Amino acid sequence: MSFETFRFHPQINAGIRDLGYHAPTPIQEQVIPHALAGRDVIGIAQTGTGKTAAFVLPMLQRLMRGPRGRVRAMIITPTRELAEQIQGVIEALGKHTGIRSVTLYGGVGYQGQIQRLRRGVEIAVVCPGRLLDHLERGTLALDYLEMVTLDEADQMFDMGFLPDVRRILRLAPADRQTMLFSATMPDAVRALARETLRDPLTVQIGRSAPVATVTHAIYPVPEHLKTSLLIELLERTNARSVLIFTRTKHRAQRLGDTLARLGYRATSLHGNLSQNRRQAALDGFRSGRYQILTATDIAARGIDVTHITHVINYDMPQTAEAYTHRIGRTGRAARTGEAFTLATRSDTAMVRAIERLIGEPLKRETIPGFDYNATASTHEIHADDTPSCRSTPPRHPEAHIHAAPRRRSAPRDQETGARPVRAPRMTGMLRTGRSDRREARRKRYASDE
Ligand code: AMP
Repeated sequence: MSFETFRFHPQINAGIRDLGYHAPTPIQEQVIPHALAGRDVIGIAQTGTGKTAAFVLPMLQRLMRGPRGRVRAMIITPTRELAEQIQGVIEALGKHTGIRSVTLYGGVGYQGQIQRLRRGVEIAVVCPGRLLDHLERGTLALDYLEMVTLDEADQMFDMGFLPDVRRILRLAPADRQTMLFSATMPDAVRALARETLRDPLTVQIGRSAPVATVTHAIYPVPEHLKTSLLIELLERTNARSVLIFTRTKHRAQRLGDTLARLGYRATSLHGNLSQNRRQAALDGFRSGRYQILTATDIAARGIDVTHITHVINYDMPQTAEAYTHRIGRTGRAARTGEAFTLATRSDTAMVRAIERLIGEPLKRETIPGFDYNATASTHEIHADDTPSCRSTPPRHPEAHIHAAPRRRSAPRDQETGARPVRAPRMTGMLRTGRSDRREARRKRYASDE
């Protein structure tokens, strides 16, 4: 199938060509014809399937006709990052259409948003709380709304946004077209769909199973050796762009700091950071300035960074479905990716649950030469335990070869708190006999800069 089949407006086709899309993805193939016909749609699909264009393209097509300067289409998303990402897709696909969009989310001032609304936009990409604020202040009305898309509905449910979403939809005209996209369909999301969509068509892509282009491996490891093992993995793998998940914001920050101190181009993304710092971390990761991003599920959910080669679960996800969300970040658009999961003994039940969900056993891997029997005192770093809070002092300088070496580092980036780009210097961290690999890696990193 080709995009020609959809008979989009030539100015929309120009945007599709600019992005280099040759053929629609399966979700686009199935959703677009019905969306163009005005039908309500439920799309069960993860990020990485091309779902954003599946709802943005029919939206642009509809907006090509009719009045400009009024908010006629709205996309409701759970996070600011996702809102920005969707806005980017609208701007790229709609580049030649003159259709304008605005993002409305909290954590930033109202004034810029109000000015943009006043200048006139046709699409609003919103987070529920800030949209309600605008409605209450009277800076936006939904009277002209023709289309609403709820994106990542299951995450909005997880984050407690469904009551707000219901309130918003009650304020929207009843004869609108509604589309709902969700990676999974918990009962609460099903109920929302039943209440708010009319005779929807359901399209399901790839169920909850992870994308086929990702290879998975479990690395059993005691908790206190996680960071050492992670570093071994980073050293041994041709990992060009790595997203590392931790259980908590605190652990994401600590691990990001530790890796940056070790000389990696690493930064972190989590909800304790200001919006500016989150955006800087994400932009830096997208541009390749940072090769490693440590993140929590919520911060990274739905984020589309196409070049990610590796997803590493430093901490096991809380649910099997969260595993598929996480590893959906790599292996995008037919590229191949690898997903490594560090698993402690207490994670056994979750490993089984993941295997049940994806319908196949996960490969267990060990790293040859890695000292799995090392005691806490010889391998003492983990995300919650950097040298600054270590209780036992090192026995001798080499005892903590896997810990962050205390050496003078370049000053931190003011925005992200991470060390600037440079080739990692692994002195004291690598074992002997690995200088060739170190040199190769140094060159690789240098050529990336
Ligand atoms: P999404 O699932 O919307 O986050 O999209 C995942 C990635 O696929 C994004 O980087 C899109 O630019 C890309 N993409 C979407 N549609 C297509 C297409 N038809 N052909 C090639 N890449 C696409």
